[in-house]
Amino acid sequence: MIKTDIIIIGAGPVGLFTVFEAGLLKLKCNLIDSLAQPGGQCSEIYPKKPIYDIPGFPSILAGDLIDNLMEQIAPFKPGFTLGEAAISIDKTENDTFIVTTIKGTKHEAPIVMIAGGLGVFEPRKPPIENLEAYEDKGVEYMIKDPEMYRNKRVVVAGGGDSALDWAIYLTEKNIASEVSLVHRGASFRGHLDSVQKVIDLSETGKINLITEAEVKEIHGDGKVESLTIKHKRDGDFNKETDHFIPLFGLKPSLGPSGDWDLEIEKNAIKVDTTDYSTNIPGIYAIGDINTYENKLKLILCGFHEGTLAVQSAFARIHPEKKNVLKYTTVNGVSGF
Ligand SMILES: Cc1cc2nc3c(=O)[nH]c(=O)nc-3n(C[C@H](O)[C@H](O)[C@H](O)COP(=O)(O)OP(=O)(O)OC[C@H]3O[C@@H](n4cnc5c(N)ncnc54)[C@H](O)[C@@H]3O)c2cc1C
Repeated sequence: MIKTDIIIIGAGPVGLFTVFEAGLLKLKCNLIDSLAQPGGQCSEIYPKKPIYDIPGFPSILAGDLIDNLMEQIAPFKPGFTLGEAAISIDKTENDTFIVTTIKGTKHEAPIVMIAGGLGVFEPRKPPIENLEAYEDKGVEYMIKDPEMYRNKRVVVAGGGDSALDWAIYLTEKNIASEVSLVHRGASFRGHLDSVQKVIDLSETGKINLITEAEVKEIHGDGKVESLTIKHKRDGDFNKETDHFIPLFGLKPSLGPSGDWDLEIEKNAIKVDTTDYSTNIPGIYAIGDINTYENKLKLILCGFHEGTLAVQSAFARIHPEKKNVLKYTTVNGVSGF
């Protein structure tokens, strides 16, 4: 059981900044995210796109904003439960909540902040009949820890940045013993320099590039041992491998928060704008996942919402204490 003051479901920019504001009030946080890395939409959808409306930054790449937020919250040592979707919130007799993830990890805290953005990102899966039977037995839809592939044979599938970047990484860092990249089309959708790098690595025999082809079947006794790949011109052939990693992108869905007895409106969680609390006392919703009159889905608005929500959370946790706002210039940022 991970015990903390605030469980934050969603490690997007809003969840991350909330750790900072909570830390100033000496409240500890643990973030849960179904993705393998923090940053939400900024990391997953547009890490290289500049953002122009973060106060104080005339322009900042979304990925750099997340790096900065991680640096900013580091003194407060938040816990991270990554690669695990939160699937349930249960109230205990002690007026705390237990949040359980799909992998069974349990977290307990008096406060839950839902910063789930567009919802859970679910992987787009290729249409292969027995795919599910091999999940976590050689089939992975995201790379959480590249070390898992050390000295293994790996087949990555996909034509976007994610597939290209991971194929390059596993090859250049000498992690996998063999890297194949299978893509249905003849050309790639990813960044031009990544495409060129893959072509260069293929020409020097370091990546086995298989285009105009699709993985059709998975074989193996309890784990992935080989794949049937259908090539447009050459027909079917067998490829031995230890891992099959289809990286076809992620699609967001409101996910389990739709079933948590929270008041939902327009596919988002309805909140009270005095403190962004939901209809369940102790549970707050901040960032893109909430809705109220005049809601704007902007990072800057989410930062404001998280800031007010932790003030209210502090009052719930410490009803006896009076919190007087002090600027960070007075107290500095003293971490835990
Ligand atoms: C292409 C594009 C460009 C944009 N440009 C700008 C811009 O210039 N300026 C701006 O202000 N905004 C911009 N936005 C919007 C901005 O990205 C969002 O407002 C912001 O990401 C919201 O942050 P968030 O933390 O609320 O949610 P998100 O970034 O969506 O993060 C939510 C996280 O919660 C996780 N999650 C959800 N449910 C669960 C669950 N049950 N269990 C575990 N994890 C869960 C998700 O995996 C995700 O990582 C842009 C959006 C897009 C798509």
